[in-house]
Amino acid sequence: MTYAPKVHRPRIQGGHWQDVALLAYKQMGSAPFRDVTRQVLFEDPALGCELRYFEVAPKGHSTLERHEHVHAVMILRGHGCCLVGDQVFEVAEQDLVHIPGMTWHQFRAAEDAPLGFLCMVNTTRDRPRLPDEADLAALRSRPEVAEFIRT
Ligand code: MN
Repeated sequence: MTYAPKVHRPRIQGGHWQDVALLAYKQMGSAPFRDVTRQVLFEDPALGCELRYFEVAPKGHSTLERHEHVHAVMILRGHGCCLVGDQVFEVAEQDLVHIPGMTWHQFRAAEDAPLGFLCMVNTTRDRPRLPDEADLAALRSRPEVAEFIRT
């Protein structure tokens, strides 16, 4: 994708920025997820980081994954829950979530509301890793985590 710098972009409407390319969350079949779109809002190389916007439709979820790079997340729209490490949190508009490196994480929208959030990451970053059977067994040792995760 070619980055076309704009100094001003219209505010979000209906879950998407009007003049920002609407992208697939991930390549289909590369990882489990449901009903997530991605928009890259800022990727100026001088910043060394990217600010993306993800919109998870009602009942949808992001991939359960971990990686060396960190996420700084701000919920902008709707509500839902997220897993960070071995804890599940309810999240809503204006909440901040810090996902440290190599920490399992997954976002789920509510049944009746989307979950839209900003996510800041390093421009240069490692690829997400998916849980293996041992990882899943460890995660599922906590009942609330077992109930929450989608794989
Ligand atoms: Mn991630």
